[in-house]
Amino acid sequence: MANVRNTKQRQLILSLLKETDKPMSINELHSQLVKELPKIAKSTIYRNIDSLLAQNLIDKYYLNDNEVFYRFKSDHKEHKHFVICDQCNQIFDLPTCPIHQLEDAMEEEGFIIKQHQIQISGICKNCIKNN
Ligand SMILES: [Zn+2]
Ligand SMILES: [Zn+2]
Repeated sequence: MANVRNTKQRQLILSLLKETDKPMSINELHSQLVKELPKIAKSTIYRNIDSLLAQNLIDKYYLNDNEVFYRFKSDHKEHKHFVICDQCNQIFDLPTCPIHQLEDAMEEEGFIIKQHQIQISGICKNCIKNN
């Protein structure tokens, strides 16, 4: 029975991330999930998130002072970074990844890079306009 329940929770988390299509924090996920599963605990969400990460179905991002966000990966090879606005917390796509060149240089030195993170925060156009 536990497995059936876990699968349902995992499907729900995955479809929520799919619909949102932007990185979501555990708090955001939790506040959406309780609408369907009023008793769901954050520890349960973390557990499901871990297995989705292990299955390479989602990506993990550190935004906003090391807060962890998760995003659905539509393609296994997809590679994206995000920028967050300090004031409205809106998340924007980083147009390209500047790290690959550095990775190639490191790998020429014999270092194998497994993953990397980019953390950028600032103030978005709208917030500047409204200041
Ligand atoms: Zn903003
Ligand atoms: Zn990158």
